[in-house]
Amino acid sequence: MWLRFTPTTSSGNMWATAESFRKPSVGLLLTVGLVVSCAAHSAAPRSPSSAANPDAQARKPWSVLLITVDNMRPDHMSVYGYEKDTTPHLERFAAEAAVFEGAFSTSAWTAPGMVSIFTGYYPPVHAQSGRFSFYDSEMTSALRVLAQRGYEILGQAIWGPSHEDFGFERGLGELEDFVESRLSNDEPYFAWAHVPDVHLPYTPSARNAKRFGATSRASEGIEAVGNHRIILRRPEEAQLDFEHAGKVAFGKEDVPEVIALYDGEVADVDERLGRILDRMRETGLLDRTIVIISADHGEELFEHGWVGHASTGYDAKLYDELIRIPLIIRVPDRSLIGRSSALVQGVDIMPTLFDILDINDADMEPTMQGRSLLPLIMDGTSKIRDFVFAQTTLKGWSTPKEEIGIRLVAARSATHKLIWVPTESGARIEGFDLREDPGETKNVYPQRVSEFRYLERALEAWTRDNRRAAAELVLGASGRRLRSIARAALGTGGLVDAVNEWLAIQTMAETWGLEPDAFYADEPYAARWHDAQRLADEMIAKAMDCRTKNGTLNATRSSQARDVDAWICAGPKGSSTARDKMTP
Ligand SMILES: [Zn+2]
Repeated sequence: MWLRFTPTTSSGNMWATAESFRKPSVGLLLTVGLVVSCAAHSAAPRSPSSAANPDAQARKPWSVLLITVDNMRPDHMSVYGYEKDTTPHLERFAAEAAVFEGAFSTSAWTAPGMVSIFTGYYPPVHAQSGRFSFYDSEMTSALRVLAQRGYEILGQAIWGPSHEDFGFERGLGELEDFVESRLSNDEPYFAWAHVPDVHLPYTPSARNAKRFGATSRASEGIEAVGNHRIILRRPEEAQLDFEHAGKVAFGKEDVPEVIALYDGEVADVDERLGRILDRMRETGLLDRTIVIISADHGEELFEHGWVGHASTGYDAKLYDELIRIPLIIRVPDRSLIGRSSALVQGVDIMPTLFDILDINDADMEPTMQGRSLLPLIMDGTSKIRDFVFAQTTLKGWSTPKEEIGIRLVAARSATHKLIWVPTESGARIEGFDLREDPGETKNVYPQRVSEFRYLERALEAWTRDNRRAAAELVLGASGRRLRSIARAALGTGGLVDAVNEWLAIQTMAETWGLEPDAFYADEPYAARWHDAQRLADEMIAKAMDCRTKNGTLNATRSSQARDVDAWICAGPKGSSTARDKMTP
């Protein structure tokens, strides 16, 4: 039986008490409700802009260009010490920037890692765990704060139908064209450009393929990595109609060739970014733009038996090669230069940006879970956190909705790593001593359980903090979501809105894995939560003169109003026909 990760402090052994995974009772959600929120991070503002530029107030604020390179591994970048000269252009760029050598994604595939960057929240809080768990656009709070300050918010649309939910006003198109379009426009912008060039299939330029050792030898495996975005480790598990490579057998001799192709792609991206950054420099755009270069997650190159990541292999793992990311931040006045090996995460990017821009959002709650990284560079602080955390579903983007609650979870310190891996027969716990085994090849947890207790406690504390943050997002002081539930339930938003809201609060509990009883029982939010549920329930029942059946509604975001009406009246009377019609 699949187990769901639910650490608890009540039993002394968090692993033994993981509850059985329960199928979500609500299918595709209508709206996962979240209160817009983000807040002042704990670090005192120490903006390099105001420090170095007393006149900064009089000028337009710096713009922000966030470039994420899909599955870019820092240990394959020469700017991070890779022995091959893959990133000479980024090396020159980094000489004027802050380089974070201990940066980790919060996940092993694109969407959760990116949403953590945009929101400052970990995946259990922002709840983007699969293609079926789109968060409410109200969630993109950090972007909204920037928008309220006059920033145009532009983002790359790479996630099909879901991209509009992520808070971007419009796409930015090709990065090169976008840069040109900003040369004569000095209005501030926040632009996110996602560069997919390093993603499977690996198709580097012939020049860079050769430069890093690709021999053009032919094999089934080489053919696969050169032609497919998805290469399943267990093709029999394919449940979606995506193109994939089918059953591929890789030989040992394929490995160096695959790595050469990957390195060639890294070098191609380096050259492309070099041209873009040069253009920004020579036109002065770099003098008014904070540039952040990072990645959504890493990539496995056969370290643990396969190639790709959760979304491409349906074989999710959380080893370092999959969650380490580059993070380089350059500010226009070059007041932020240096290197830090401290543990940092994608959730720290927005708090850092707010710190640089002197944005103080103390009147918003809850606080983002990330922290500003400026002290690591400007104050010589040696660390801002003791642990990093990551979570992933089994098949990333392709995870079917009935598996959305099955997740790998990892906690890592500077010296140890603990990974909770659900299996079909239960769960497996892996513990690694990174000092003697940085490649995570020898699971020493069974023999050295007590040595990993501190990481188990860190996971418990992380889970508590996630629940606090989620509770505050949903039901916190600003109470936007709660008010909208009440408004809909009282009828001003119409019956369909009320049903949507009712579904949303059910779905929140399921999506977050936060059962109302356990989640809110000892929280000040408990009464408000239950009031909202009762209100929505009563209003729907009254309006339709029939009862709602708790937790069994199934609807899609695009369901028509009349379908919802049909279900409401037909469902509780025992007919399953109407409900089945709505099941996607
Ligand atoms: Zn990705």
